[in-house]
Amino acid sequence: MENHTGLICRGINNIYTVEEGKATYLCRIKGKQLYQVTDEYNPLAVGDRVTFVPTNEHEGLILDRLERRNCFQRWNAKGGNNQTVVANMDLIVCVTSADTPPFRPRFIDRVIACSQGVDVMIVMNKCDFLLTEDEYERFKLYKTLGYSILGVSAKTGENVQKLYKALEGKTVAFVGQSGVGKSTLINRLLGSDQRTSEVCEKYNRGRHTTNHSLLISGPLFNVVDTPGVREIQIPHREKATLQEAFIEFAPFAKNCEYEQCLHQDEPGCKVKEAVEADTIHYDRYESYLRMLASLDDKAPVWVGKN
Ligand code: GDP
Ligand code: ZN
Repeated sequence: MENHTGLICRGINNIYTVEEGKATYLCRIKGKQLYQVTDEYNPLAVGDRVTFVPTNEHEGLILDRLERRNCFQRWNAKGGNNQTVVANMDLIVCVTSADTPPFRPRFIDRVIACSQGVDVMIVMNKCDFLLTEDEYERFKLYKTLGYSILGVSAKTGENVQKLYKALEGKTVAFVGQSGVGKSTLINRLLGSDQRTSEVCEKYNRGRHTTNHSLLISGPLFNVVDTPGVREIQIPHREKATLQEAFIEFAPFAKNCEYEQCLHQDEPGCKVKEAVEADTIHYDRYESYLRMLASLDDKAPVWVGKN
């Protein structure tokens, strides 16, 4: 039988839901080869494209994984290799909320540092609540830095249509702390009339279960809901990657006295001077310092604990 190509939408206990057009197959991985070539704790993630052979109308065997464009990985607490949470994203939507939980720029900075060049859009949900002036300024800073920002309310529907337009045709990963309104927003975008809790139940996903993601095929876009995103890693835990995520540092960093300056306490550090002169936002610098310190830890510092 000829090989098929499909998209992984879900994976639980090594059984993967593979979509090929409108058809869906429950698949296992054939043999050990895929495990060996990828050296990952789990070689497949939601968003991966795979080749497979159907064994009957509803089941099949996965042969290989096609090359990934990008992925989010999280620390494997059991030790050993990392776990990939989602692969092949076109856009990362970082969802924050104006209140309950309060606006958390630290989280956004971390998502940006983990984004590997994938476009990041910052969505402020719960805009039916008001931000303080400082919070609003901090939110707007992302726009100055070149990211698209949008205030929405999943509750009132404000700007939800605008968000929909920005996502059309893309595979989108929604990331955000628990409670910011991701599920409510996704339901609204997909036009689902199911209530949030029913969706969770339908997919057997407890509110705080963090061991798998789910890819929902919408009419125009694939939405990936990624639980456990607090644990997402800066790629390869590299300091250079972290520095690149703070794009406003670059024009100053090139004039630092040391070529390998980490912008901590080095003499002649132009980044630190720019922070002192208020040219670089102090809070962004603080985000940087915290993440830098976390890279030296044996285990990463989770964003949610800041
Ligand atoms: P998730 O954990 O990010 O998926 O968040 P949920 O979608 O479960 O939403 C958490 C809570 O926030 C629920 O009680 C929602 O009804 C509420 N919520 C979601 N969006 C909004 C909004 O735009 N405004 C307000 N006021 N509440 C919202
Ligand atoms: Zn420096």
